[in-house]
Amino acid sequence: MIRITKRVFTDLAIWMMGFGILVGIIFPFFMLFLGMDPFMAMSWWFFAVCMLAGLFVGAVNILLAHRVVGSRLNLLAKHMKDIENHLKAITGKAQSVDCTPENCHIPVDSEDAIGASSLAFNHLVDTLAKSIQIEMDIRTYTQLLTTYLETDQLCRNALVSLMEMVGCTSGAILIEEDGELRVNHTMGLTKSSSLSSNPLILDSMQTLKRNVINIPDDVMLEGVMTSFRPSQIIVEPIVYKQLPLGVVVLASYETFSSEVLDNLDLFGISLALALHNAMTYDQVQKLAAIDPLTNVYNRRFGLSRLHEEFVRSVKQNTALAVLMIDIDHFKQVNDVYGHTVGDRVLRSIAASVRSQLREGDILIRLGGDEFMVVLLGASRSDALEVGEAIRRQVSEKHIKYGEQLIQVTLSIGGASFPEVDVEYEKELVEAADQALYRVKESGRNKVSV
Ligand code: GH3
Ligand code: MG
Repeated sequence: MIRITKRVFTDLAIWMMGFGILVGIIFPFFMLFLGMDPFMAMSWWFFAVCMLAGLFVGAVNILLAHRVVGSRLNLLAKHMKDIENHLKAITGKAQSVDCTPENCHIPVDSEDAIGASSLAFNHLVDTLAKSIQIEMDIRTYTQLLTTYLETDQLCRNALVSLMEMVGCTSGAILIEEDGELRVNHTMGLTKSSSLSSNPLILDSMQTLKRNVINIPDDVMLEGVMTSFRPSQIIVEPIVYKQLPLGVVVLASYETFSSEVLDNLDLFGISLALALHNAMTYDQVQKLAAIDPLTNVYNRRFGLSRLHEEFVRSVKQNTALAVLMIDIDHFKQVNDVYGHTVGDRVLRSIAASVRSQLREGDILIRLGGDEFMVVLLGASRSDALEVGEAIRRQVSEKHIKYGEQLIQVTLSIGGASFPEVDVEYEKELVEAADQALYRVKESGRNKVSV
């Protein structure tokens, strides 16, 4: 239609009334043709009446169009405005979208273009509501993941929340640590230890692709790991920059909807990022605290732990003992068997010492062949007892090197607080060092506290 003004209904009115007037002008000729008295048909007043009638029909048409079509368009505009306000209200807030047919849809009561546009609007609103809901869920999930920096905590919470979101009751999360796939956390699974060697899980780790296993009702299941009979199991790899960090396994009583499967991709991205951060954090923590050869605390971190524990002991008036351990003639081990064997001996001795300690005790490699043990709550006699147990175990140990068996002994010096009444932990360490020196002087392979 050729546009005349800026308003469609005004254009339509001009066209309809113009057409009415045109019909009014033509109508007398038509009547003349049909045999009307020429004097009457061609009179000015008959022309005037016909034109007025045409104008009237045009005006009534435009009023009707305005009422029938205009009201629908106004309704559409009002709903669009409502949706816009709704979107503005929820943007930036973790609030779910409440878009039910009652409060967001336009009634569809015609089968023509108007009905079709209402229907299209309703579908658009549904799709929009769904995508906002997904965005909200992902935002909530990502926020939850960012609150955990330690891998174990992160995995547990990531799994629980993911299971909640996809609506299943059994699942597991496995992560790769030191080149091995380990079950980190499980929910509702009975036999989860075999998961690490499951071919489908290994396949997902290798191909970086999801495996979906459908289990038809008539198929017998052997060794089901869930307390119920699952209809579908999903194995979703956790992939960060094309590298597999682990997998999530989800087992459901009912098959997962295609929507859930699509959303899983999005949740997976957040999980991979958070897991990568947590694993990096763990590694950094480990690097800062652990001696890479013996896997015990390094000097810097170990001495700071000693400081903390000493301060606590002074405050709470509890006992604490320190043992200094040095391998006897360790240089000779290196000289005779080589450095690599020397390293193995160091690792083996660290493990022996660890095995004699209690849960909270602290083992530190001070450097070279020297270790320190902090025994919490230990008196002088406790320290002597533990020191003697360590010394005996190592002296009786044979470390294998090819056909030969290597044997080493330890010299151990100790000091206990508050028997040695010191102000700073440094003085306690010095006292233990002196005791160690005396042992070395008096022939080695002994304990003195
Ligand atoms: P002593 O009974 O007097 O303690 O004699 P020692 O031979 O053990 O003497 P000392 O404790 O002074 O020597 C420690 C040796 O430990 C020196 C060095 O060759 C060796 N060592 C230090 N760090 C490492 C290490 O990381 N690996 C290996 N294999 N040897 C190390
Ligand atoms: Mg030594």
